Amino acid sequence: MGNTGPEGTVPRAAPGGAGGRLRRPGGDAGEGRAGERVIGVDLGGTKILAGLVDRGGAVERHRETPTPLGSQAELLAALDDAVASLRDERVVALGFGLPSQIDQRTGIIRGSVNIPLDELDFRTRMSERFGLPVEIDNDGNAAALAEYVAGAGGAVLDGKLYRGWAEFGHIVIEVDGLPCQGFCHGRGHLEPYVTGVAATRIAQQLFGSAADSHRLVRLANEGDEQAREALAGIGHKLGAGIASLCNVFGTDFVVIGGGFGVAGFDWLTPAALETAKRDALDTAGATLKIVRGELGTMAGLIGAGLLAFDALH
Ligand SMILES: [Zn+2]
Repeated sequence: MGNTGPEGTVPRAAPGGAGGRLRRPGGDAGEGRAGERVIGVDLGGTKILAGLVDRGGAVERHRETPTPLGSQAELLAALDDAVASLRDERVVALGFGLPSQIDQRTGIIRGSVNIPLDELDFRTRMSERFGLPVEIDNDGNAAALAEYVAGAGGAVLDGKLYRGWAEFGHIVIEVDGLPCQGFCHGRGHLEPYVTGVAATRIAQQLFGSAADSHRLVRLANEGDEQAREALAGIGHKLGAGIASLCNVFGTDFVVIGGGFGVAGFDWLTPAALETAKRDALDTAGATLKIVRGELGTMAGLIGAGLLAFDALH
């Protein structure tokens, strides 16, 4: 979810469907390597989620701290802390899922939307600091990889993770629409319409300033028609974004992740699917499936860990 942060609903989709097979990191683990661990770090706009991950994608322990947004130095210090506090003798690599535009060839961050991380040779910086191999990717890609390997299974192009500038949350779904969140200066992007933050805004309009996205979902579950309608409205916007993915990339499998996306899935998805099928070209939308992410808010962390194992080969 292009990141959208842990509350996002933005589709963890990648082009083309699961055309081939991605090497599953656990598959070729030798006996002596079973004890190896990596540290996966999911950097979001509100929190840093870091954990010890094994080759199968299981998380041994994890920690969550707020994301400092004051400066790049503070942010890097918080990431260093996260790694240092989890590191033990079994850790052989580090993986980071970042809400950033990344040059994969060089490991250099070109820019970020929601956090102060710009023009930085991130991979080298982290690798030199900790003396370990480091792999980095866009956080949405990391979550998609995790769902493919260890969760719902999908979102991969020709068997390989799509490693491009994949901020699906910043697809334009409404010209001159709502201003985007964080440092993004765009308007009408998917994010301000479909994330947990957006759901909270809508909940407050309907149910007063104490309401939030959690309450909106709870009310819908309890049968409140207004809440169900509001969530269907969010799903409708989400469907428009998914239709664009279908039409441009031939996406046919979309995993909805994030705290809000998973919790509200049942109310979001029928409307999302209906709109996506309406707006997608026939050939693109015919086989479209939208599924619930199975890894919840841990998907980004697990994906970052799986990337780290990848860095070892
Ligand atoms: Zn945006």
